Amino acid sequence: MKADLHCHSNVSDGLLSPAEVARRAADRGLELWSLTDHDEVAGLAEARAVAEERGLRFLDGSEISVSWRDDASFHVVGLGIDPAYPALVAGLKGIRDGRDGRAHRIAAELEKAGIRGAYEGAARYAEKASIISRAHFARFLVERKISPDVKSVFDHYLAKGKPGYVPHEWASVEDALRWIGNAGGVAVLAHPLRYRVSRDDLRVFLGEFKDCGGQGIEVACGAHSPEEVKECARLARHFGLKASVASDFHGPGESYADLGMTPPLPDDLVPIWHDLV
Ligand code: AMP
Ligand code: MN
Ligand code: MN
Ligand code: MN
Repeated sequence: MKADLHCHSNVSDGLLSPAEVARRAADRGLELWSLTDHDEVAGLAEARAVAEERGLRFLDGSEISVSWRDDASFHVVGLGIDPAYPALVAGLKGIRDGRDGRAHRIAAELEKAGIRGAYEGAARYAEKASIISRAHFARFLVERKISPDVKSVFDHYLAKGKPGYVPHEWASVEDALRWIGNAGGVAVLAHPLRYRVSRDDLRVFLGEFKDCGGQGIEVACGAHSPEEVKECARLARHFGLKASVASDFHGPGESYADLGMTPPLPDDLVPIWHDLV
């Protein structure tokens, strides 16, 4: 099964519309696809309509931001969710509402670092979106020639410990997994090796994630090296989690990986779609 179960449209911080991402997914030969915008489900109907027109199997998805312990955050992808499930809809709206105040705080920190107008600048890049993400700030800082590309903006301004970083309270792991589970979906830990936590803490988190009903972990990640894919596979085996495939595509020219540009899944792992399709 050629699957890609993690990517973004301009409903959150991707560059293409849900229909454009759907056409690209079909054109690139995917057989199973999910759109997983940050803290949002608004693009799913449009994505599904195009996917079905093109004979591409589609899973409704969302990538939910969660907080853990003192200022750690993780991303949990819900797959096969009912996007109309009221507690999920309300929970995601709560997270989105919190993002605006955070964006103002990010802009205030950037202003202290001498960068003015960042809220308005980021908001322009988020015109079609219902959230402001750090990716929108990054595009604005590139436009201002403060950094040459999005990645270096994160390295110098937006990552934890840098001048434009602010702590933020996202959803709790328990709440996010309850919304996903009750909405009929499965919860998958996104890009496991892209968090600023120690390997020990990642394992502690995965234990709690599993205890809360988490079922999957991204193993074949577009942004992971072959060694990192092997490490994620070991985590999947150790915690008894099914394996997912994720380009985390945000747009042409911006992401590490295009749709479907993912490493192969090790044969012994159970794919997350085993019980979903
Ligand atoms: P936020 O949800 O507002 O914290 O923003 C997170 C988003 O920023 C991610 O989903 C990516 O789109 C982007 N991002 C985070 N870290 C990086 C990085 N090192 N390089 C490029 N984009 C990044
Ligand atoms: Mn993003
Ligand atoms: Mn993520
Ligand atoms: Mn993502």
